[in-house]
Amino acid sequence: MCLDFINTLDDRFSNEPKELLKSYLDLARFGEDTGILSDLQVDRLMTKSMQYPEGAQSALESAIRMREAMHEVFWALVQRKPVPRAPLMILNGYVKDSAQHMNVVSRDGHFEWEFDSTDSDFDAPLWPIARSAADLLASEQVQFVRACASKTCEWLFLDESKNHRRRWCDMTKCGNRAKVKSFYTRQKKASK
Ligand SMILES: [Zn+2]
Repeated sequence: MCLDFINTLDDRFSNEPKELLKSYLDLARFGEDTGILSDLQVDRLMTKSMQYPEGAQSALESAIRMREAMHEVFWALVQRKPVPRAPLMILNGYVKDSAQHMNVVSRDGHFEWEFDSTDSDFDAPLWPIARSAADLLASEQVQFVRACASKTCEWLFLDESKNHRRRWCDMTKCGNRAKVKSFYTRQKKASK
């Protein structure tokens, strides 16, 4: 999920990168599409962002700072280069903030981690994303993070194929793909 988030700056390496997080509403929609926020949270946060546009805007800017730090870290990893310290420190700031909103809850006879189900904190979508990046970095799976082999794409993805030789972010679309119109149409199709 953190990799999908990084990909919300589409065509990153082209002359005209496409920013898919243009407003706080886009960030809330990302939370909706990826299931990290409940429908109720999304509705309330969207409403609140209309009432308090400045707070929403600063949360959006913070989300983009986090995304760019994540990109630097994961891009160094896929390039097999040393991970620079500065973006990792920035990411850790978000990881710490995220940890402050985590709870252990009892559900159906077992315990699980859950984030505060707040509908008033504009930063709520950032917590699970930061956590997802930290979990991925600290896992065995991190070695299977790849950049799409299409030079017009270069989206990051997790290669979960059996022999770990996947080269394209999406086999059906990439390579010779006509690029999808937006991140969100892709998400919608994937969920159907
Ligand atoms: Zn691709």
